[in-house]
Amino acid sequence: MPLRLSLLGSTGSIGTQALEVAEQLNRTGTFPVEIAVLAARSNVQLLEQQARRLSPQAVALFEPAAARDFRQRTRDLDITVLEGPEGLCEAAAWEGADTTLNAVVGMVGLRPTMAAIKAKKTLALANKETLVAGGSLVIEAARQNGVKILPVDSEHSAIFQCLQGSPEERAVKRLILTASGGPFFGWEKERLQAVTPEQALCHPNWDMGAKITIDCATMMNKGLEVIEAAWLFHMPVERIGVVVHRESIVHSMVEFADNAVIAQMGAPDMRLPIQYALTYPQRLESPSGALDLPALGKLTFFEPDRERFPCLNLCIKAMERGGLVPAAANGANEAAVQLFLEKKIGFMDIPRLVQAAADSQPAVQAAKVEDVLEADRMARSRVLELAGSL
Ligand code: NDP
Ligand code: MG
Repeated sequence: MPLRLSLLGSTGSIGTQALEVAEQLNRTGTFPVEIAVLAARSNVQLLEQQARRLSPQAVALFEPAAARDFRQRTRDLDITVLEGPEGLCEAAAWEGADTTLNAVVGMVGLRPTMAAIKAKKTLALANKETLVAGGSLVIEAARQNGVKILPVDSEHSAIFQCLQGSPEERAVKRLILTASGGPFFGWEKERLQAVTPEQALCHPNWDMGAKITIDCATMMNKGLEVIEAAWLFHMPVERIGVVVHRESIVHSMVEFADNAVIAQMGAPDMRLPIQYALTYPQRLESPSGALDLPALGKLTFFEPDRERFPCLNLCIKAMERGGLVPAAANGANEAAVQLFLEKKIGFMDIPRLVQAAADSQPAVQAAKVEDVLEADRMARSRVLELAGSL
């Protein structure tokens, strides 16, 4: 039986690499993958190419106008075209798929994540915002439905790999996430004020979508990942460390009770964690290149600069306060990153706006997804309001 995949965000950085992985697995015949569904927001052109190449049963486009355009262009194909937020949820819960890879960017991935879990799909999760905003609901729903969440984010995949075959949870002392430090590692505060989107979009080691690339530059990404790790591995944030590792070769580590540290290493190539999430527990030949340690010579580690990059601590504090505070911090960040990309605010305004929105959010628990969506909406409108007066 092939693995039948619903791929949300197929036109993005993770999505296109996931298709490369799937197509290579099919070519080698080691692990057949059938692409059952593809979903995106509005990139009709690329989605059409993918659909013609891979013949999925269905596609979903978030933008209804894009869905109409897609139907026009593909009248010769026998394919179901879903649309809007509901269409994305239907794609996530598609009957003809058994695994859903959620690789859309942003909080908009939360409802599809919940839909996949309720339909008892195995969930390969790249969309970290889902766990940051709605962690308690997602983890509880996964538990109730007996659903496995397989991490795609490289740090979390690394930790997941380090934990394979390890003794019971009590033996784990600490998780240690590595961070590249982004393009502005070591920069003075004054220089950071003047950073442009063009500069921030140049990541030293990874080629990713725009939003996560900005998150790496502010280190918000690492803050989001601390929260993501807390939910995935049931770990309080005070037992999750962060070290800057410029080379992005050690993808993260686990420290055990006896102080042994197990690290997962590999070339900085997302195709490796994507493939592991699809083929788990199997390890198969991968398109990712082999590691040549002597060629690298040395690996370096530094303390993160929490003062110059305040987003890391803002996220940790948000998680410590708990309830809907991380959802507010995440929503504020999404809105602030958008404004920064549109050159409406400066680089250092991003942490300011995230802090302001998190501070205004009471730490009440989310009883349902709508509570998370409401906290997200409030945080975004607070950011827009404050940005107007900057
Ligand atoms: P991209 O911006 O490259 O791609 C985003 C994808 O999501 C596109 O397919 C886009 O469709 C789709 N999308 C966006 N909004 C919607 C929507 N409202 N409805 C349906 N689809 C939507 O992002 P990345 O691939 O870089 O990141 C995806 C997720 O993975 C993020 O959560 C990110 O944090 C995480 N991640 C990414 C890594 C990476 O290396 N890129 C590494 C680790 C985690 P369209 O093209 O039509 O806009
Ligand atoms: Mg990561």
